[in-house]
Amino acid sequence: MKKVFIYFFAFLFICFILPALLTKSEISALSEVSDKEEVTEEVSEPYIYNQYGTIRLLHTDTNEVEEVALDTYLCHVVSAEMPVDFEKEALKAQAIVARTYTIYKINHKKHDNADICDESTCCQAWISKEDRLARWDGDKEAKWNKIEECVKETQGKIITYNNQPINAFFHSNSGGKTELPVDVWGGR
Ligand SMILES: [Zn+2]
Repeated sequence: MKKVFIYFFAFLFICFILPALLTKSEISALSEVSDKEEVTEEVSEPYIYNQYGTIRLLHTDTNEVEEVALDTYLCHVVSAEMPVDFEKEALKAQAIVARTYTIYKINHKKHDNADICDESTCCQAWISKEDRLARWDGDKEAKWNKIEECVKETQGKIITYNNQPINAFFHSNSGGKTELPVDVWGGR
């Protein structure tokens, strides 16, 4: 008779109590996640794009500093960093990364008299429109327009963590592998 009760309670436990316990813990895990998201939104300062209307660009060959609209500058960067015949979405991703990197540089300056320079080994690659068009074949103005469209369509978009611009460095070729920043430069 005792065995019957044991089987009965085991049956109840497996069919009803265990599922109820598991469901409850899943729900509490979900609510923890949404609580965290709400907290993140509360503590973060809003990103104000308008404050970065123009930037001061150092031309390293002449040592001149040019004040230029951020998105105009980005057209020169994107066309220097990525082949124009790449898909538009790739160029737009490059525009967002370059914009993020530029704004990070404005807040973490290397140069006393400028926000960023035109040297890829120091700050970020840049090419004049004249030099860019000279190196392209075919319909050069259409290619430049494609770059301008990609920058315009991503206007105001940057990558943030806690609403702060990330240090969005990038590479043209990883050699098939990537490495954690902490193992290369330090920092997370
Ligand atoms: Zn520099």
